[in-house]
Amino acid sequence: GQARLLVVGGGFGGASAAAFARRRYPDLAVTLVEPKTRFVTCPYGNLVIGGVRQMGDITHGYDGLRARGVRVVHDWATGIDAAAKRVRLGGGETLAYDRLILSPGIALRWGAIEGYDEAASERLPHAWVPGDGAQTLLLRRQLEEMPDGGVVGLAIPGNPFRCPPGPYERISMIAAYLKRHKPRSKILALDAKDAFSKQGLFQDGWNALYPGMIEWVPANRDGRVTRVDAAERVLETEFGTRHKVDVANVIPPQSAARIAIEAGLTDQSGWAPVNPVTLESRVAPGIHVVGDANIPGPMPKSGYIANSTAKQAVASAVASLRGEAPPQALYYNTCYSHVGEDYGISIVGIFRPNAEGTAIVEVPNSGGVSPRGDLPEQRRLEATYADSWYESITKDMFA
Ligand code: FAD
Repeated sequence: GQARLLVVGGGFGGASAAAFARRRYPDLAVTLVEPKTRFVTCPYGNLVIGGVRQMGDITHGYDGLRARGVRVVHDWATGIDAAAKRVRLGGGETLAYDRLILSPGIALRWGAIEGYDEAASERLPHAWVPGDGAQTLLLRRQLEEMPDGGVVGLAIPGNPFRCPPGPYERISMIAAYLKRHKPRSKILALDAKDAFSKQGLFQDGWNALYPGMIEWVPANRDGRVTRVDAAERVLETEFGTRHKVDVANVIPPQSAARIAIEAGLTDQSGWAPVNPVTLESRVAPGIHVVGDANIPGPMPKSGYIANSTAKQAVASAVASLRGEAPPQALYYNTCYSHVGEDYGISIVGIFRPNAEGTAIVEVPNSGGVSPRGDLPEQRRLEATYADSWYESITKDMFA
């Protein structure tokens, strides 16, 4: 009969895999399991928080995938039996597969910051796993309700985490909103790291657009938040400094999503080790783990990498079913960030397995970051490139 490809998770990795599989291999029977009927993207979520995009602009449905012939099942995968090649769903159904693509994203490690659990996130939003968009809108509403002259505090995690430049784009978009509506306010960004992605470019932009508004505190200056008091809105750092703020955005440490952990696919790091060529789990043959849930070597946990690795995983899965060798792998990433609404910067990297196929390495001289300096036209153009990137990747996933 028809070979069965099952995809669990309908986000950047999963939707990309399902769409690509139907496009490239029309004979494949593709089923996608995703609990939500509407997918809210993390990319451009920071612009919603900044008030320059609306929730509708970042929300996508699954009708396009259905029209491509994907069977879309809105349910949770609750268990994976790798030996029997079956996935159990919350509603009771069991789906058999020949190959499984798993892209369930991340889980927030509740309690890794003392006092920060799911209940605390209703008062100190993370807005890092958008779900139905409620967390994003909560942070937005708190900024709107904050008086001018208030302090917005952020707690930023150590590596690895979803979207390395994401917290700094968030700082930028909050600053853009405050500059326009509450110019006496401040941002206190408490970081568990000493350096971050595109740091020079971000800090140049902050100095140019938001002088004096943003204080970034690295770990080596007591920036690591270890405890929060949700009721008092206090962020407490490693050496006991208590920062009382008016709005707090706590981005906690993360791991692979629960289903990957419960299926035994993760190691002690909390993430799933995979084969660099096929993205197949090192633990369970027949299961390809893509997106943020895997251990990507030097690649960032980004939507673009999720998309790029998803295609390689599908092609490898099909090759294996046909008894063929996997195709050569090449993984692409560009992460755009908005420093201002019309001020974009980017980082590019191309990655491939090493000659032995044992690890992923960056292709020498393949990437880089936007040039530094006073380059208003370049920044303006990159903001428009970011819009085009968003448009094309969401079409690739959902259209
Ligand atoms: P997701 O896209 O989160 O998808 C996972 C899906 O799996 C979810 O829909 C979830 O409901 C589903 N799921 C989970 N568990 C189960 C289960 N048990 N059964 C069924 N379904 C399940 N990346 C970029 O490339 N460019 C950007 O500009 C960018 N900006 C970002 C900005 C922010 C603020 C953030 C937070 C992230 C940003 N990212 C960006 C990163 C990007 O969002 C992630 O890397 C990407 O979403 C990872 O894809 P994924 O498939 O692993 O997870």
